[in-house]
Amino acid sequence: MQKHIEEAKTVIKNSSKIVILTGAGISTDSGIPDFRGPNGVWTKNPEAEKASNIRYYTTSPEIRKKNWSLRATGDLWPTVSPNDGHKALARLGDKLFLLITQNVDGLHQLAGTPEEQIVEIHGNTRNVSCLECDYLAPMEEALKRVRKGEEDPHCLICGGLLKSATISFGQSLISEDLLRSEQSIHECDLLMAVGTSLTVGPINRVVPLAHSLGKPIFILNGEPTEYDSLATYLIREDISSMLREIC
Ligand SMILES: [Zn+2]
Repeated sequence: MQKHIEEAKTVIKNSSKIVILTGAGISTDSGIPDFRGPNGVWTKNPEAEKASNIRYYTTSPEIRKKNWSLRATGDLWPTVSPNDGHKALARLGDKLFLLITQNVDGLHQLAGTPEEQIVEIHGNTRNVSCLECDYLAPMEEALKRVRKGEEDPHCLICGGLLKSATISFGQSLISEDLLRSEQSIHECDLLMAVGTSLTVGPINRVVPLAHSLGKPIFILNGEPTEYDSLATYLIREDISSMLREIC
């Protein structure tokens, strides 16, 4: 492993177009709970799991009302800050070509990675969007309406259903985001997969894509991943302390 750490340091130093894919594992040190663990978001609020399924969300006013109420009182997501892992990636500066994240927490932006270099492939919870038209607004605007008494706020333009700007189960990814992610693999000189088990598709396919193009692949995760066998450099370690060391 020490050999891989030294090699990873060297390859990062010598790379100038790094693409990074991050998952939940980079945010656990920030106190973001997982979903299905003992203290998981969905274990504590089973209704929140249903709310993350587009079919339940669109058909049940009760599920929407409960979800808006949890958001408005701050009981759904804790307030969190970026950790050393997010900060280490932000320090890559010009070396970073694109950061693709599966997380919806916005912590890469808060750590200083420029918004235009980030693809939030599963959306984010900062904004609210209409399921019918292009209406997009800060989440806080919708929450203000909920706190004033609207239990299930609808779109101010077309009256359609509003939902946090995350990609729910049953919803397609945004095709431009997926295309941009795939294109970045063709142009990069290193792919780093950090804190992801690489089991969630279709974005996990960037790893076999990079492999087929002969790009070096560096996988850092606390647990084994789906594509460990494709890694050029494989480090199974604590994520934030390792990123602090190698970036
Ligand atoms: Zn609308």
